[in-house]
Order: sequence, then C-alpha cells, then structure tokens
Amino acid sequence: MRVLIKNGRVIDPSQDLDDRKEILIEGAKIKGLYPKGKGPKSDKVIDASGYIVIPGLVDMHTHLREPGFEYKETIKTGTMAALKGGFTSVCCMPNTNPINDSIAVTEFVIEKALKEGYCGVYPIGAITKGQNGQELNELRTLRQAGCVAFSDDGKPVTNSLIMRRVLEYSKIFDVPIISHCEDLKLSEGGVMNEGVVSTLLGLKGIPKAAEEVMVARDIALCELTKGRLHIAHVSTEGSVKLIMDAKARGIPVTAETCPHYFSLTDESVKSYSTNLKVNPPLRTEKDVEAIIQGIRDGTIDVIATDHAPHHEDDKNMEFDTAAFGISGLETAFSLGFQLVEQGVLDLKHLIMKMCVTPSKIMKLNKGTLSVGADADIAVINTEKKFVVDKSRFFSKGKNTPFQGWHLKGTVEKTISMGKIREWS
Ligand SMILES: [Zn+2]
Repeated sequence: MRVLIKNGRVIDPSQDLDDRKEILIEGAKIKGLYPKGKGPKSDKVIDASGYIVIPGLVDMHTHLREPGFEYKETIKTGTMAALKGGFTSVCCMPNTNPINDSIAVTEFVIEKALKEGYCGVYPIGAITKGQNGQELNELRTLRQAGCVAFSDDGKPVTNSLIMRRVLEYSKIFDVPIISHCEDLKLSEGGVMNEGVVSTLLGLKGIPKAAEEVMVARDIALCELTKGRLHIAHVSTEGSVKLIMDAKARGIPVTAETCPHYFSLTDESVKSYSTNLKVNPPLRTEKDVEAIIQGIRDGTIDVIATDHAPHHEDDKNMEFDTAAFGISGLETAFSLGFQLVEQGVLDLKHLIMKMCVTPSKIMKLNKGTLSVGADADIAVINTEKKFVVDKSRFFSKGKNTPFQGWHLKGTVEKTISMGKIREWS
C-alpha cells in the first residue's frame, strides 16, 4: 500500500528541511520526498493542510512498568500512550520486576513489544545486578540481547569505581550510560525540594546538592574515562552550570530534562497534590529559568518524558508516602511547544531535542524523514488549543499535574512503521 502525505509543512532537522513537501510511504518505509504537487499516485492520501509533518518523536527515558507492575502500565498501554503523544520510539528503563539485568528480561520486553506494542520499544539494561549499585552486570551479553543503553535509573550508582568501569565499557560497546544523579544520604526521607516552601509545608526536603554532587562526580569520571555519559532529568541551576562548564572543557557529556522541570516550580506543591511528587523534585523559579536557558543554549541536549505511570492507589495518600512520578507521554509535546510559543526555541530545535538528538545518542537510526528510513511520522496541529483531560489518557497512569491545563499543539496522526493512527 502506498500512502502520500501532502499539503503539510514538513520539518525534518536531520536533513535541515522545513518546506512544503509530499512524503510517499510504501509499507513500513519512506519511499520518496517530492516538491509540493509533484508526488506520485498512491492508494491513500493524507491531507496535512495546516499541520506540521515531523519525524516521530523519540523518548529516551520511559518507564513501561512491564514486567512486574502491570497494574501501573503495560507495554501495550504505554506504547499506545506514546503514539498518542506523537512518539514512535521509546527506550524503557530497567527498574521493572524482575529488573532488566538479564537476557531473559531483555528478550521478554523485546518479544512482548513486537507482539503487543504499538511503537518501537528499546530496552535499557541495568548497570548493576539488581540495580544494587555494587556489582557490574554482563554488559556485553545484554548489549547483544538488544539493550541500547545502561542505567540504574530510579537509583544512583553509589559505587564510584563501578561508575568508572561502566563508563570505560561504554566506549567499547558504544552505548550511553544514563545516570540518575542522587546522593541517597542527602536525599534520604525527602519528598520535595528543600527550601522555603518545604519549610512552610512541613515536608522533608531534598537539597539541590543531592543531585549536583553526583552530577559533579559523574562529570569528573567522564573526564577521566572519556566515556559516554548522559545525565538524566536535570532539575537544578547548579547541574546546568556543571554541565555547561564540562561541555566547554570538551568533556563528552550529554543531558536531558523533562517538561515538568521547565513548566512547574515547588510553589505548586502548596496544593499538596501528590501528582506533583516527582524525583528529582520540582525546584524553584530560578532553577526553571536556568533549565530553560540550558535548553536554549544547548547545554541540555534532550527533552525526555521520564514517563512514570502509577496506579491511583500509589498516589491517593499523604504526600509523604505517595509514589514519585508523573505520567508524561501524552503531554510532553504540547508542554515542549510552550517553549516555542514563548520564543525560547524554534520548532526545528524542539524537534531536535525530542527526536533527532535522542535518536542519535541512543543510535536508533530513527528521527528522520529521509528516503529509505522507517515510516515513523507525527502529524501535528500546532494551532489547536485543548484542555488536558487525564480521563482520556491511553496510559494507565493518570498521575498528571497538568490536568485542566490549556495547551496548544495536538497530535492528529501518528504513523509507526507505516501504520497510521488518527486521533481526532
Ligand atoms: Zn531517574
């Protein structure tokens, strides 16, 4: 079957393209790119008038929860949520049950995704056995089984020698090491950012230093090893400064942040809504400004979701005891698009950070509309306003702090490996 997408504004930073083009899809591949009005005959035409047509988004930080926590999310529901959010590739973190530290779990995820998933799923293996932070996994076999990166996300690698070793191995296996930067002694018992608001609310705080000391350590280890370090979910001004300085000194570190770290501050926690409880925690206005500046100047390479779906029962309790995490796949693009509306970024750079760059870091061979590439495409109406309604989420996780927010930019169609899904 041949499908022609016409009349859209095609934006593909991988080819430095922003033009009215027609895209021909045949089967699972992009077959041709043509000037407006020059596309060939096809079996089906998608009229993208008034829309942008971009490569499917790539999320390098997703929690799909399967195996083990299927009551929170499954590969099936998580990948449908991804598609609804415009994502056609997601990289899933290993903190499942059992933890993905073995070929058996890696293969389970890959096979389950092939059978029940709606988009590309790329497993991330654990750095240490059982994510205990102490004993290095068999990285070679996990890599061969299909892991695209390694991370102990949810937990830091507390043993610095293990972190040094894994960064050395990252060069041999050419995979990124994604670091969850948290000093567990400093963050112990904390549930929100440590500062004026936590004092006011009587909640135990997590100081910014809990993140920054580990960012500093990992940068030092990256300088020592020249390994492929990627810092996950950057939330503080201090971390942005450390990464900016490291990059200026030629250290090969990359970094991501998530929409909630540029959209919300700890002030919002005054509502005591547990949907605002996330790790690292929401910080202050000054941090948000630094994150936005880091996105603008390129210190922060990637906008990832850290999609962390939870069941109502994990959130419907006191702030102190509720689970950490935000269900992020279905709001990420629109929150990112706010940065375009605010003049922080142009669309091209937003797409770079949500698609081209994460694909490059994870070496997925995605994030492009070039001829011969997989037909992974998102068709988006950047003019359409909507109100976030979690009851319409495809994700099982309704834990969003953005419920009721008025946003702009709706995903109209998502095409994954040539399969078309229409949302409105
Ligand atoms: Zn994390």
